[in-house]
Amino acid sequence: MATQHPRLVAFDLDDTLAPSKSPIDPRMAELLVRLLGVAEVCVISGGQFAQFTMQVIDNLVDVDAVTLTRLHLMPTCGTQYYRSEEGTWVQVYAENLTDDQKQRALAAVETTARELGYWETKTWGPILEDRGSQITFSALGQAAPVAAKTQWDADGVKKTALREAVQSLLPDLEVRSGGSTSVDITRRGIDKAYGMTRLAELTGIPLDDMLFVGDRLDENGNDYPVKALGVDCVAVEGWEDTAAFLETLIPVLQTVSR
Ligand SMILES: [Mg+2]
Repeated sequence: MATQHPRLVAFDLDDTLAPSKSPIDPRMAELLVRLLGVAEVCVISGGQFAQFTMQVIDNLVDVDAVTLTRLHLMPTCGTQYYRSEEGTWVQVYAENLTDDQKQRALAAVETTARELGYWETKTWGPILEDRGSQITFSALGQAAPVAAKTQWDADGVKKTALREAVQSLLPDLEVRSGGSTSVDITRRGIDKAYGMTRLAELTGIPLDDMLFVGDRLDENGNDYPVKALGVDCVAVEGWEDTAAFLETLIPVLQTVSR
């Protein structure tokens, strides 16, 4: 049963609002501003706040400070939360790993990578990164070219071996395969369902009054936990689908809000 008149519409970012790692289209920017006129809006993604800035915020035009207060940004699956206050983006909270968790994670992944022979000397930028709520290992460095990354572990065997070995050393944390050469370490149980639950607590808007739009609502997808949580979901296959959906949703919500 689809929520006819959601009070809040939440979106995945990559391949839902924009092509992966790319800015939103001007048409999507205009639709989001129109939607903000009639509903609360959330963007939730596994990425960092800098991605939200580059892909979404910097591309919203003709939007006033009051309208922006209805936009809720949840980087790293809601372990961070940002709101706009008088036109400035403010971090409301960040649920970072503790110093002890960070140190154990950094030590476990470095030791294991060295033991397995995956600690490379020719790299592009640092191999280890402290992202606050996440420790990231990138075998060839953060800025490695795509071709080199693709070649490093074409069959995924290295990443799987590293992930499993590190996970066994860190039973209280979650170790996941990230991009083509990367392994991410976070607290356990952090996914988009976690973020949506936090959002409901923070806004006071029940999950029943929310709608979620995502491109990976299939069982293996990173949007699936939101569906499993029982939130009404709309599946899309790219930002053009999302735009078409908003073209029909916005007029309906405008009628209700009058
Ligand atoms: Mg996506």
